[in-house]
Amino acid sequence: MMVTKEQILQWLEQFADAIAQNKEYLTQLDAAIGDADHGINMDRGFQKVVNQLPKLAEQDISSALKTVSMTLISSVGGASGPLYGTFFLRASTAVAGKQELSNEDLASLLQAGLDGVLQRGKAQMGDKTMIDALSPAVTAFTQAIGQGKTTSEAIQQATAAAEQGMQATIPMLAKKGRASYLGDRSIDHQDPGATSVYLMLKSLSEVIGMTSD
Ligand code: ADP
Ligand code: MG
Repeated sequence: MMVTKEQILQWLEQFADAIAQNKEYLTQLDAAIGDADHGINMDRGFQKVVNQLPKLAEQDISSALKTVSMTLISSVGGASGPLYGTFFLRASTAVAGKQELSNEDLASLLQAGLDGVLQRGKAQMGDKTMIDALSPAVTAFTQAIGQGKTTSEAIQQATAAAEQGMQATIPMLAKKGRASYLGDRSIDHQDPGATSVYLMLKSLSEVIGMTSD
């Protein structure tokens, strides 16, 4: 199936909603190993995105994702603002000129977003960051479409991989970001950024799962 611009906008709205509902939870996770603002930061940015939905509806997919990026960079703050901003900026570039997205386009969007976060944040798998949820999700998505799975099956598998990746951050020692200042005390806590990434994938799978292939 092809993913439409309307579905991309629904994804953003669904993610904003998930962030709003999990604002306290994300902030609690960040209180344990950071400065207790991840939920607040993300909610501030994504409420701005929701306010811009009418404007985004007039843009093509790539321009809308670029607007989201600019909004996040200017309003989220912290480490996650530039990182999510980079994700959406690279995602925007990956789908330039597309009116709707094939499975391959969606794979390129996710891969470009991941590559941007890797370059910008210089974290690796196992560093206890967003990457630990995002990287396995992108791999799972690409593998699934390579096996001929439908868009909705592929995004469900990506979401499951993100969830596992998020849970796998619990025993990790943080090597990047504020949590790394804690050294051993960062162990036994789930990473807030990996958790918001899981919510991002889950939101996409909810939107795509609503339509049959
Ligand atoms: P800050 O740490 O500046 O307060 P947030 O609390 O909004 O920013 O976001 C923290 C999250 O950012 C962490 O849980 C982690 O997942 C992510 N993060 C921090 N540094 C990096 C990095 N270098 N690469 C990838 N993700 C990172
Ligand atoms: Mg923080």
